[in-house]
Amino acid sequence: MGGLTLGKLCFGKDGLQFGLELCLARAGLTAHTVTEETAAGCDILLVSICWYRDVYALERFMRAAKLRKDTRKPYILAGGMQATITPEAIARMVDAVFIGDGDDCLGELVQQISDTGDCQHPNVFHDGDNEVPAPRVCAPSAHTITTNDTKGTQRIEIARGCKYKCSFCALGHLKPYAEVSLDDLIPVMRGLKGKRCSFFAPERVSHSQWPEIHRAIKQHGCRDLAMDARLDHLQEVQGASVAFGLEGMSEKLRRSIGKPFSDDMIIERLGEFVRTRKRIARAVMYFIGDLPGEDASDWEAVWALFERINAEPWSRTMAATPALFPLTPKRCTALKDAHIHIFRDYGTKWHDLLTNHGKQWGFRITRTLVNGPMERTMDMLIERGGADAYDVIRCLPDKVLAGKLPVKEREGIARQILQTAERYGITQGQLEGTDG
Ligand code: SF4
Repeated sequence: MGGLTLGKLCFGKDGLQFGLELCLARAGLTAHTVTEETAAGCDILLVSICWYRDVYALERFMRAAKLRKDTRKPYILAGGMQATITPEAIARMVDAVFIGDGDDCLGELVQQISDTGDCQHPNVFHDGDNEVPAPRVCAPSAHTITTNDTKGTQRIEIARGCKYKCSFCALGHLKPYAEVSLDDLIPVMRGLKGKRCSFFAPERVSHSQWPEIHRAIKQHGCRDLAMDARLDHLQEVQGASVAFGLEGMSEKLRRSIGKPFSDDMIIERLGEFVRTRKRIARAVMYFIGDLPGEDASDWEAVWALFERINAEPWSRTMAATPALFPLTPKRCTALKDAHIHIFRDYGTKWHDLLTNHGKQWGFRITRTLVNGPMERTMDMLIERGGADAYDVIRCLPDKVLAGKLPVKEREGIARQILQTAERYGITQGQLEGTDG
């Protein structure tokens, strides 16, 4: 592979994607981050596609960099979670899509491309292939990468997949659950004393050795910055900030998706977390709108929950950031066929709740925006539009691909995208799950 120039392209904040860095490290390869000006100069471009927005960002990047598939200038190989779930549209943009975990085979793929100009691995999907291969599964290992932010955080994967398998969550369904053992983590911790660390997994505190890992993190003087936990395990978080998913507005909806948390349990666990922090406790709470069966009673339930939090004395030392994500069902999950309502106005409902109809709550609250019809249409186009979705994507202007449009314009953009989609045989009903 001597003389071969490898480029890498990620669309995250710091241009670094754990999975791709892990694959490169395992293969003993180095890839250079490309720009629109330099991308055409590499022989192979590795692209990480982790969520739907990356597909639109890739189209925008390829236009600006004047890259086209099938030219081999460069050979473009995509991978990542979104590429694994919805490879059809992506395969129309790039030369090949890798399906699943590439930890142990990136070297082989690069060698094959170098030798033959193509890649015919059993876990690779090309435009026009009849079947998407099953995702490759690799065991996680105690690999560490350092993020590019100013202070640099060490990220260490401690488990892959999730044993809970909540019905909406791709992380629980895409791959089997597997853990890195404490014995493998200890040598890594030894080298991390005093450093900023994030020992991460889809649901890290459910690791079967979490109490021991938690103790070892402290003993080795690591500063664990990760703040996510299931409601059942909030006390496992070291710092004053926690992020957890409640998902359903009501206990009924939470039960339906695999998170059977009652309001009493939420008050008890959140109260315990807040009371045991030194000063202000920060709580990021995720909710999902448009879950199957949602009706007015579920919104009454979430209002009642906020009233109960408001009545608790401990809430005066809490800064809450509730965030609402209307459902965009993922193919690999139990909710894959769920019926959604792209134009249901969640933004107004959410604004009313967070502002208490303009009267304000007694606890601090950060207002968050809600993904609206444009974001949901773009997400579902990738998820349910199949290969034809690319016919729509390539018609979209750069400003829509970038997604940063004034909120008041977005509903109109969603309707325009749907009109374009109709021309290519993709209906609104197909994206909402009501056709067929
Ligand atoms: S939502 Fe959390 S607990 Fe549920 S499957 Fe996903 S990662 Fe696991």
